[in-house]
Amino acid sequence: MPALFRSCNTRRTLLCMSAAALLWGSSPAVSVQAARYYKLPELTTTTNSPTAKDSKETAAAARKGLYEQMSAATGIPWFRFAAIDQYERSVAKKKKSPAPSEADSAEAPARLTGISIPAPVWSGPLNPDQEDKFPESITLFGGFGRDGTGDGIADPGNDVDVLYSMAEHLLKYGRSASDFSIGVWEYYHNGRAAQRVAQFAKLYEHFGRLDLSGSAFPLPIGTNYAYRSTWGTGRSWGGARIHEGTDLFAPHGLTVRSTCFGVVETKGWNRYGGWRIGIRDIENRYHYYAHLMGYEKSLSRGDIVIPGQTIGWVGSSGYGSPGTQGKFPPHLHYGIYRDRGITEWAFDPYPLLKQWENQEYRQLKKNKNKK
Ligand SMILES: [Zn+2]
Repeated sequence: MPALFRSCNTRRTLLCMSAAALLWGSSPAVSVQAARYYKLPELTTTTNSPTAKDSKETAAAARKGLYEQMSAATGIPWFRFAAIDQYERSVAKKKKSPAPSEADSAEAPARLTGISIPAPVWSGPLNPDQEDKFPESITLFGGFGRDGTGDGIADPGNDVDVLYSMAEHLLKYGRSASDFSIGVWEYYHNGRAAQRVAQFAKLYEHFGRLDLSGSAFPLPIGTNYAYRSTWGTGRSWGGARIHEGTDLFAPHGLTVRSTCFGVVETKGWNRYGGWRIGIRDIENRYHYYAHLMGYEKSLSRGDIVIPGQTIGWVGSSGYGSPGTQGKFPPHLHYGIYRDRGITEWAFDPYPLLKQWENQEYRQLKKNKNKK
């Protein structure tokens, strides 16, 4: 028996019945269920038509709609689809070619999701036809591809087929958050990928929305601080490393705030950074705050933060064994690293710092004028 049917259980009756209807012809009872399920492709075609407004918001709303419909059909919470999609989109950005969802080539229809499944995975590693789109033969060769739209084709370029296939894979492991983590691990076999997906799922679940793009300057606006672009200047300690970040000089004990919505990923002593904290945002950027005097007590690894939230205080810790302080003037070292899937790259945070600072100044002015 093909795996698709063997793996049938009561919780998945709807999906399995739809699949059964495809292959064996449908009984009246099945076709009602199937009709409900087959509504999915309509959503992708209407929201993805060239006439649809090409705004980020429209795309995000359409994407959320797609996750929610897949969730209704499979029982997998929408934020888990969103997290996998966001992870794939964030690591795909490194490529010169635009992400699949941003592509507007005439031949390939634009996609809503950025999930791309390699051909050998989709069709089955031993499948002689690596472009195989027939669900029966894909299943026979142990491939990942399934037909979610009900057109008899398992298309790796179709969002519904891709999400449905992902759902089928995940459901093999169960429905709890830890089952989900195992399913994600078994798909990527990459600890970083699994960690990112779990972090993103947590953020989406907590806030209940896709847009988590807010920002804040890391120090309170209007206080006594100074910084300039120091990208790439030499380091006096620790060998020939470039300076990956911006130093914001400020008095000991000045509040340090989160610049983004994110999850606390690291917290503790680092030989170079002293007491430091690292926060992962939804764009897969790691925000690194070093040389702190101390941390906000209530914060632990895995906690969620919002822009402007206090995370610690400016200090001069670092460049030595745990607890070393005062080897240099107190400052916040702030760096941003982007996860590229295999490696993580630092980029100059200075332009963003300027932008966030200006935004907050403008907002303060606006609020003053209102009074
Ligand atoms: Zn620094």
